[in-house]
This record gives sequence, structure tokens and C-alpha cells, in this order.
Amino acid sequence: MIIVTKSEGTCGKCGAKLEVEWDLDWVHSYEKDMGLNSYYESDVQVVCEKCGNVIAAKLYASEYPEGTLENSKVTIEGDASGKSTLEKPNIEFYDL
Ligand SMILES: [Zn+2]
Repeated sequence: MIIVTKSEGTCGKCGAKLEVEWDLDWVHSYEKDMGLNSYYESDVQVVCEKCGNVIAAKLYASEYPEGTLENSKVTIEGDASGKSTLEKPNIEFYDL
């Protein structure tokens, strides 16, 4: 089970605050020395409530060893202003 917090960001066009909810999907896993190394991704499209600027962003996360966040990254893939920013969310893994 993965818990992902919301991310805050800023619209590069008008400066309004943005809030993004991520929904991580499992992509693939590899068997490594200490167990599974799993990769997750989330695609979101955020529309600024103030100016209508559309921002497409992607969150990548990897888990290794199991239950531990190895790495995460947010990339902005589409943004007409070119200046929007998004923070990385906190990601936690829980054993069921
Ligand atoms: Zn805006």
C-alpha cells in the first residue's frame, strides 16, 4: 500500500497556488539482491483555477528495498508558461 501526499505548486502564468493529487500506478519490478525493486508512475493534468493554464506533470517513484522509498522525481511535461513549479510529494510504503 502506498500513501502519497498532495503536492503544492505554483502556476507560472498567474502565480496562483496549485494543489495536485497523485495516483501512483505500478509500472514494473525487478528482482535484486535485497528483494524487489519496484517502479511507479503517476500522470496528472492540473488546470489553474485562476487563469486556466494547463500543466501536465508526471511523478516517478522507485521502491527498494521493499517498503522503502528509494527515489522520487516530479517532471513538468506540459506548461504553456514554462515557469510552473510542483513540489515532490511525500511517499510512504506500508506492508499490509
Ligand atoms: Zn494560473
